[in-house]
Amino acid sequence: MTTDVLKGKKGLIVGIANEHSIAWGCAKAFHGAGAELAITYLNEKAAPYVRPLAEQVNAPIIVPLDVTNETEMQGLFEMIGNQWGKLDFLLHAIAFAPKEDLHGRVTDCSKEGFLTAMDISCHSFARLAHLAEPLMVDGGCLLTTTYYGGEKVVEHYGVMGPVKAALEGMVKYMAAELGEKKIRVNALSPGPVATRAAGGIAHFDKLLEEAREQSPAHELICTDCVGAYARFLVSDEARLVTGSTVYIDAGFNIMAA
Ligand code: NAD
Repeated sequence: MTTDVLKGKKGLIVGIANEHSIAWGCAKAFHGAGAELAITYLNEKAAPYVRPLAEQVNAPIIVPLDVTNETEMQGLFEMIGNQWGKLDFLLHAIAFAPKEDLHGRVTDCSKEGFLTAMDISCHSFARLAHLAEPLMVDGGCLLTTTYYGGEKVVEHYGVMGPVKAALEGMVKYMAAELGEKKIRVNALSPGPVATRAAGGIAHFDKLLEEAREQSPAHELICTDCVGAYARFLVSDEARLVTGSTVYIDAGFNIMAA
């Protein structure tokens, strides 16, 4: 369904790796609803996969962004400020943990691996918010992506569980702090979906199988379903929704293990 609920809105999308990315499902929905998009890609290796997608949704800003690179991040927001003079919403759909830490026990996680996972997957959301805030002159929406493994222990999700728990905490605190400026902060919590990042989680196929079997709808989610919910959340129709983690998981989260 195409609507124009985002007509005139400017949005930043961080997290497209390819056409399977959750961020791509969201970008298509935002574009279909009339938003203009700035799209980032991790590095030159990612560019050939991301650029054609960004061009498909006519993004006027397509730039590299590694969130660990302060200069790139500053430059991105300067560009948005110069070109648009404002920002209405931002999607943070990124995660990373070094493989050896992701595949081991949380108990054994190295300090370095833990800090890297936290930095890229969690604190980067605050850094983006900090730079977006002055541009959200008409209020706005900051959206991130979490997973059920931040709430309950999910086998093989490892250190990403505590990292997502922290991210969900950030959502609440940032929502409280930014509410006065009419900047809303929310997290999408999709069920498992086969993406590049998901491929890093051991036995991911089993997770998909369980999600299908145990969810009331007995279905796996798709990135377009996440996009539809995200489109609502960044629109003015969701102006009273903030500080929330919303599930798009075919109801999996309500079931006892
Ligand atoms: P994906 O591989 O398509 O996207 C992950 C993105 O993170 C990539 O675009 C990658 O370039 C980016 N990234 C990694 N390190 C970065 C850095 N230093 N700077 C900038 N970008 C960086 O996978 P996805 O599944 O679409 O992941 C998007 C988000 O959704 C993640 O936060 C993930 O935890 C979350 N999520 C995924 C699932 C799932 O099952 N796939 C379920 C729930 C939540």
